[in-house]
Amino acid sequence: MGLRSFFGILPPKLPYKDMAAEIEALPIPGKATLLWCKHAPSDVVPRVGDEIKTGQDLAQKGKGPFISTVTGRIEDIAILTGPDGYEYVAVAVTPNPRDSFDTSLESIDDFSKADSLELRTAINRAGFTALSSISSDPSIWPAIGILIISALDQDPLSIANQQAFRDQIDQTEEAIQLLGRATAASRLVLALPDHLTHIGRKFTRGPTTVAVVPPVYPNGLPEILAKKYGAGLLMQGSDGGFVGNTLVVSIEQALAMVGCLKAGKPLLNKTVTFSSGKNGPLKNFRARIGTPAADILKKTTTELIPKGKLILNGAMRGYACFSDEQPVTAAIDSIHVQAPSEVFFYQSKACANCGRCNAICPVNLEVNLLGRFSEYGIFEKCRDLGAENCIDCGLCAYVCPARRPLVQLISHARHVIRTTTIEHVSTEDILSIEEGEHPVIRLFETAPENEKPLRNKA
Ligand code: SF4
Ligand code: SF4
Repeated sequence: MGLRSFFGILPPKLPYKDMAAEIEALPIPGKATLLWCKHAPSDVVPRVGDEIKTGQDLAQKGKGPFISTVTGRIEDIAILTGPDGYEYVAVAVTPNPRDSFDTSLESIDDFSKADSLELRTAINRAGFTALSSISSDPSIWPAIGILIISALDQDPLSIANQQAFRDQIDQTEEAIQLLGRATAASRLVLALPDHLTHIGRKFTRGPTTVAVVPPVYPNGLPEILAKKYGAGLLMQGSDGGFVGNTLVVSIEQALAMVGCLKAGKPLLNKTVTFSSGKNGPLKNFRARIGTPAADILKKTTTELIPKGKLILNGAMRGYACFSDEQPVTAAIDSIHVQAPSEVFFYQSKACANCGRCNAICPVNLEVNLLGRFSEYGIFEKCRDLGAENCIDCGLCAYVCPARRPLVQLISHARHVIRTTTIEHVSTEDILSIEEGEHPVIRLFETAPENEKPLRNKA
């Protein structure tokens, strides 16, 4: 039986696409927004009105890097809440159509002659966050159990990463060598979807293992790759240092590192897959980081319709945006546009105890209970049930016949657990809660009639 899903009636298997799609390069945008996560505007050195260069580190010494991807004039600096809920410093720039490069980056021709610290410093200085998210200081670097370089896309609506592998297979050996030396990982794994193993077999030579991954969601998510093909736990930066034992880097990032280090240039571009509608074709665009989503919509002559949705970073893990001015970042793999008829709305129906969410959860959470405890504000129980281990894969909500907003409820619980002191709630308190008293779930119900339309400046 098909299940009511994000897109309508679909079978519960979500395959990754096996398709090649040429990458179309977009020009330097007419305006750009550079985002820098979790820092203060005072940490940005240039001021409004200053001219900046491509590759210039805009951050105060020791705070960055925050690399400019364009040359131009700073129009504004502000704190914004990003589409993922985190706070960012946003630097609005009017770019020049031609780059003037900051020349402080040096090229490295032969990775085999550079030592680990030199390579890590160059990767960090070029603006790659894949490594600096663990340790922003290249000289303080944790031991890495297993490094996985992944040619899988994370979302079924993205083909950007596998296209990078198809286009630059000849540079893959160098990418493996570069990251192997930079990270000094004990073991290297090249993760390939089933359908790309015929062109990736040659990498089984030497110390690299090839992992053949069934191309079905959520197998391309870093957490799942670390669990199934790594040493168990994805490495991530945390307040007290880092956690985990397996580092996962996309092949697109790894290949871009090779190009940037050899040229002595920063990371400037990101490939994103664009799609619209239920069965719209997937198209790849390479855009300057900072390019507004509106430029890609304009290129595809796609209009945002009021009560439709603009979704960044995938159908399963992505987030809806209220503005098409959201810029492309190094972390965005896809842009998807939905018409109003395709938008999925959650409901405030009670859980039917069918158990489907628990059965499908890849990290074995008791999702139905987490959803209920979060709905009623009992965050202590959410913490005890391991809400913080949720990886936001979205599968629970995908299969829920009651259309409960499970991902939002668990994400809300995680946010509360991380940011507040959790109060103890007694059994008596729980039993005294009247039905409907905690209307968290109503936030995600059908959109009200007066909902503001999406802006479309395309
Ligand atoms: S989103 Fe749902 S299915 Fe996925 S890890 Fe979190 S609770 Fe489990
Ligand atoms: S899938 Fe939905 S209805 Fe079924 S147990 Fe989970 S939350 Fe309840």
